[in-house]
Formats: sequence, structure tokens, C-alpha cells
Amino acid sequence: MSFAKHSGSNHQVIESLVALTEQRDELTLLRSLLDVILEMLPGVEAGLIWLVPGTERGQWIKDESCPLPPPMFPIDEGLLAEAASLNSAAPDKQLDLDGQSYLISSLGILEGRRKVIIIRQPEWNSSDLSTAQGMVKIHANYAKLLFDSERDTLTGLYNRKKMEQKMSELLSARTNGFNRKQDEGKDDYLAVFDIDHFKRVNDNYGHLIGDEVLLVFSGLVRGALRDADWVFRYGGEEFVALIKGVTPEIAKVILERIRTKVQNHSFPQVGQVTVSVGFTPIIDQVLPPHVFEEADKALYYAKEHGRNQVCAYRELISSGKLTQEERISGSVELF
Ligand code: GH3
Ligand code: MG
Ligand code: MG
Repeated sequence: MSFAKHSGSNHQVIESLVALTEQRDELTLLRSLLDVILEMLPGVEAGLIWLVPGTERGQWIKDESCPLPPPMFPIDEGLLAEAASLNSAAPDKQLDLDGQSYLISSLGILEGRRKVIIIRQPEWNSSDLSTAQGMVKIHANYAKLLFDSERDTLTGLYNRKKMEQKMSELLSARTNGFNRKQDEGKDDYLAVFDIDHFKRVNDNYGHLIGDEVLLVFSGLVRGALRDADWVFRYGGEEFVALIKGVTPEIAKVILERIRTKVQNHSFPQVGQVTVSVGFTPIIDQVLPPHVFEEADKALYYAKEHGRNQVCAYRELISSGKLTQEERISGSVELF
């Protein structure tokens, strides 16, 4: 270990801050927060846990599917209960337990999961404590900046930039053979939604009511999908969903359910709104735009054949309704 590491120098603090703010996604940001704290406070042990809402109202339980390495020490029921009791009014807590002194800090809730960091050492001095608390605050500020930059301001959904990033990750994991073993016949699907005759909504009711329709629509789509699925606002009245690990039949059922839910919803002032959907599996395409183009061609077909319907690109190809080479004029521009 170098002298610099123990010197508590400004240089080391700056390096740690650089490392933390270099991160671009939630998981690596969390890992980096942990690394930075362990590096700056060599006497501590630390770990991250994720909590999800339990069956009772206000209850938080451990999220067993958390992809982070387990904490460096066991988290018993007592510690878990303390972590679960944190909230935005009281985001951290200190307590002594079995000869260890714990600092438990909530890192906030994102996509329905509460992230908590637990740091312990036999005894804390005030300088260590303020370093740990300071790093957690810097993490919170930076996470807010980062996550705001991934979201659409009107609907709170992920934005197009995030979609491009997510699609590239999915495809490169696939081509590198890194992705988890898929269940037989199950794939990830990309669906593109475009609200039908949305221009009329704006023309007849004004832009503000139009915005309201987009907001309600986004809630209907998000609410119809599972946590593991992703929903993005691609632009204007176009939305994209990534539906994870389903068969083509289930993908169609899910999308039909969304289509019907939208059709049957009474939108404020406007009444009925419908949506057309095109979708395709993410399997053998080379680049994200290829996937998008397939789903978009199916969407265009739905628009051309009466709107308010869900079309599967591969089905249209195999039934000869679309040909692979077919170029569709008016296709949405690709990224
Ligand atoms: P189609 O069924 O063929 O999709 O018809 P459409 O009228 O929905 O399609 P078009 O792409 O011609 O029109 C989309 C309209 O969406 C045009 C634009 O004014 C409106 N729009 C795009 N973004 C927003 C937004 O953020 N808010 C509101 N209120 N309207 C938007
Ligand atoms: Mg459109
Ligand atoms: Mg439209």
C-alpha cells in the first residue's frame, strides 16, 4: 500500500471523486461508491443491499435478485429491519451491534428498488464518519444528474439515448456470448408503439391536452409490463418497449393487452385513443438500427392496414406480406 493512500491527501480525494463520477450506469456507480469508501477508509467493511416492496403496505424486503456481490459481513434480520426502516426524511442511521458500529444509509429508490449501503468498523471517529457521509451525498447528487439525463421530462420514462445504449448492450452481450442462458424458445423483444392520429388530438384539443394523453399513455404501457422490461419514450408520440425473455406468442399477448387497454381507456377530454404496434425478437441482428427497423416496418404495416393493431415483423415476412428487402418510404428515421 502506498504512502499516499494513508496520507489522506487531497490528491487521493480527487482521484476517488474522478473514479466515482466516471461511471455512467447505476450498477457501476454503486460498485464505485463502495470501492471509493473502502479505499478512503481502510479500516471499514462495507456492503450494498437492495430492497423491494413486500406484500404489506410500506414493507421492504431483501431483493434476492440483486446483481451486486454480497456484503463483506452477514446481514442479519436486525440489520435488515434497520435498513428497511430508512426513508427520505431519515435517510441514514448509526447503531452499535455486537462490538461493531454501523452506518446505514439509504441511496434512494429507483425503478421501485431501494438501495442501501451498510458500513461498519469497531469504532468511528468524526473524520471517518463525515468522509463516509460525504461520499454518500456526492453519490446521491451525481446519481440524480446521471439519471435525470436518461429520462424524458414529460413522462419520466427512459429517453431515446438510454434506449440506444440499452440496445447496444443487449446485442453486444449476445454476440460476445455473455448473456445468460436463454430458456428454450424465449427471447427479448423490441416493440415500437405509435399513437394513432395523434395530430388530430393536438389539432382538436390543443397541445396541453395532447401532452396529458402522452403522460397517461406512458403510464398504461409501463403499468402493463414487468419490472424487468424497459419502456422508453422514443420521441413525440412514439414509444419503445424491451420485453425480456418471452416466447413470440407471449410477446403478442402482452402487446395485444396493451393495445386493448389503451383502446378501452377513457382519456381525459379526448375519450378514446388507439395505438399501433410493431415488434420483433432481438436475436440475429447485427446492429440496434436493424432491430429497430424490423419493428418499425411491422408498425408501418399496422398503420397501412387499419391502425389499432399489433403486427409481428417475422410473421409478416413468413406469410409473405412483407419481403425482407422491402424498403418502406416514410419509415421513421434510424439512429
Ligand atoms: P398516425 O396514425 O399515422 O401515426 O398519425 P399521427 O397524426 O399520429 O402521426 P404524425 O407523425 O403525423 O403526427 C404526430 C404528431 O405528434 C405531430 C406532433 O404535433 C405531435 N407531437 C409530437 N411530440 C409531441 C409532444 O411532445 N406533445 C404533443 N402534444 N404533441 C406532440
Ligand atoms: Mg409518429
Ligand atoms: Mg402517430
